[in-house]
Amino acid sequence: MLDVIIIGAGAAGLAAARALLAAGRSVRVLEARARAGGRAVTTDVQGAAADLGAAWLHFARENPWTALAREHGCTVLEDEPNWGGATWVGDQPLSAEAQQQASAAYLRNHALVEAAAAAGHDVPVSTVIPDDEFRPRFDAVMTWAVGRPSEQVSTLDLGRYADSHDNWSVAEGLGTVVSRVAQGLPVSYNTPVTHIDHSGTGVVVHTANGTLSARAVICTLPTSVLARGAVRFTPELPPGHLQALHDLPLGVCNKVFFRYADSDLPGQGTQHSVGSIRTVRTASYCIRPAGQPLLMAYFGGDLSAELEASGQLAAFAREQLTSLYGADLVSRIQGEVVTGWGGDPWALGSYSAARPGRADARAVLARPVTPQLLLAGEACSATHYGTLYGAAQSGQSAAQQLLHTLQDTP
Ligand SMILES: Cc1cc2nc3c(=O)[nH]c(=O)nc-3n(C[C@H](O)[C@H](O)[C@H](O)COP(=O)(O)OP(=O)(O)OC[C@H]3O[C@@H](n4cnc5c(N)ncnc54)[C@H](O)[C@@H]3O)c2cc1C
Repeated sequence: MLDVIIIGAGAAGLAAARALLAAGRSVRVLEARARAGGRAVTTDVQGAAADLGAAWLHFARENPWTALAREHGCTVLEDEPNWGGATWVGDQPLSAEAQQQASAAYLRNHALVEAAAAAGHDVPVSTVIPDDEFRPRFDAVMTWAVGRPSEQVSTLDLGRYADSHDNWSVAEGLGTVVSRVAQGLPVSYNTPVTHIDHSGTGVVVHTANGTLSARAVICTLPTSVLARGAVRFTPELPPGHLQALHDLPLGVCNKVFFRYADSDLPGQGTQHSVGSIRTVRTASYCIRPAGQPLLMAYFGGDLSAELEASGQLAAFAREQLTSLYGADLVSRIQGEVVTGWGGDPWALGSYSAARPGRADARAVLARPVTPQLLLAGEACSATHYGTLYGAAQSGQSAAQQLLHTLQDTP
């Protein structure tokens, strides 16, 4: 019998598999898709590498994916993104004074959230920040960073998030790194899991392709997928874990990539901009993400979910780019790729955000369901959620817990 079945070949599942294999345990990873990486995937847009999901090595100096990228022959770009005050608005930088004011307002709002969190207040972020001229931009940043509007972001959850000072990218794509790490690991693709029976001493996992048994299981599926009941558990998950799944829904961020001849793109090198600082209903843009000849539009929150559902993500970006840069830039687009994370049945969103009042759900989710059944994934990390780093930490932590359990049981 196998020692451990891991469900999901995303960052968490792969990290768990590597840790268990390194300790000499037998492992099988069951993955619904035809590829590894889950919410980290790079696609080729006419010769340019585009990260459809995770792109940034947040916490890059301590993030294990940075070393893995280099070990697997990828090029880590150590350029810091010009997020914050230095981000352009449309096709122009803000004046030095306006940049300073924008940065000061952002830092003040952040300090208000941290103060609320430090006082143990778990309330909507929107209730602790002023409704002033800087608010639309702050709210828009929330939709990109957390995937949800300020009204639906918990002060305590946001306050617990560790500050990422180093944000680097990978020329070949971060998704490429994850897929290279998966090579050689024992993964069964096109194998959606339907039922986890942990009623006996071991665990029986039912899939579309048959049944597999093991002494223990780590389930790394996104919270929104499990909350929808895509996988049946026998016996049912305990009420605390079930509630935690519902308290940590995934927001819906999306990207549109436009392929360009590099010389047709504005400026030199990588440049970030926001479409507007007057409304939350705007995309942000990145010219030459990871140095590639692409222009990327980034969407979050309600705008992202609505435009995905109506098939209008690319149309919105083209229209906003036309108003910012003129029709000529848009006429030079050579190809496009649009994501649909909200409707992706194996993800149902981009990254988890705790509902206000529910920040402690992450700790509940990370508790073993039984000694043989553990949940893992980005949503289980209280400090690095929504990242590949947090997902890997969670997978490794689940693996370590199981190594103790397996040692103690015959
Ligand atoms: C648009 C976007 C931008 C992002 N940007 C960044 C970024 O810049 N930096 C960063 O660090 N993170 C970013 N993230 C978040 C990052 O991608 C996730 O935090 C991380 O990939 C989650 O890993 P995971 O293993 O927890 O989950 P997943 O990657 O979702 O892995 C779960 C796996 O389970 C599989 N699965 C689902 N259902 C079943 C089933 N029934 N049976 C078997 N398998 C199943 C899925 O296919 C998937 O492979 C971004 C995500 C998105 C969508």
